Amino acid sequence: MKRSNWRRPLALIATGAAAIVLWQPIAQLSLFSDLNAQVIQEPAPMTYGLVNIAAASPSILLDIRYATKNNFLHFPVYPRAACYLQKEVAIALCEVQEEFSQINLGLKIFDGYRPLSVQQLMWDTIQDERYVSNPAKGGGRHTRGTAVDLTLVDADGNELEMPTGFDDFTERAHSDYMALGEMAIKNRALLREVMERHGFHQLPTEWWHFDFDGWRDEAKYPPLDVNFDTLDWLARHGS
Ligand SMILES: [Zn+2]
Repeated sequence: MKRSNWRRPLALIATGAAAIVLWQPIAQLSLFSDLNAQVIQEPAPMTYGLVNIAAASPSILLDIRYATKNNFLHFPVYPRAACYLQKEVAIALCEVQEEFSQINLGLKIFDGYRPLSVQQLMWDTIQDERYVSNPAKGGGRHTRGTAVDLTLVDADGNELEMPTGFDDFTERAHSDYMALGEMAIKNRALLREVMERHGFHQLPTEWWHFDFDGWRDEAKYPPLDVNFDTLDWLARHGS
């Protein structure tokens, strides 16, 4: 497929289709009681910039574990399965998906943007930094919309062999762990190679976790506490 074709969905988003959140009057946010009060009092980022990846690239599969009991907490912390990412992160991920599609592979996402209040709930439940980031220390990675957890699937949607499953917090999940079968090493390397080419960086302790370039920039990517329903409402009423 030509570049001009596979960029089309994002062009639609960029022109204000329902999938994107653009500049919103902060006054509208007071309609939602679950918002972090600090966000309302300090409305510098009037846009959240988050894009629903299902609209940006419908061919990317979703297995949002935190919307199910199938996660290390054993209860759902998201109201439904959805993945939101900062627009430039979503664009880069669409490019990754396109590149993999040319060799009959694709992406399956386990997690994307995570509201700060959910991060806090996870921390309060576990309080172990081996499993979850302490939101008091910078807010966490997924709260910025710049981190994504994912794996590779074949043309039928079957996951490729990887070193471990998602959220396996053992040494075996480390990105440099080599006591593995040939296929797991090969698939992990392929995922990393293509993701890095599009601006993502693999976490040393989790082969499935990637952060986008510049994710530590607090001004550009502050931790957010806006929930999925609010994001969808803003998208429907987008500017
Ligand atoms: Zn992650």
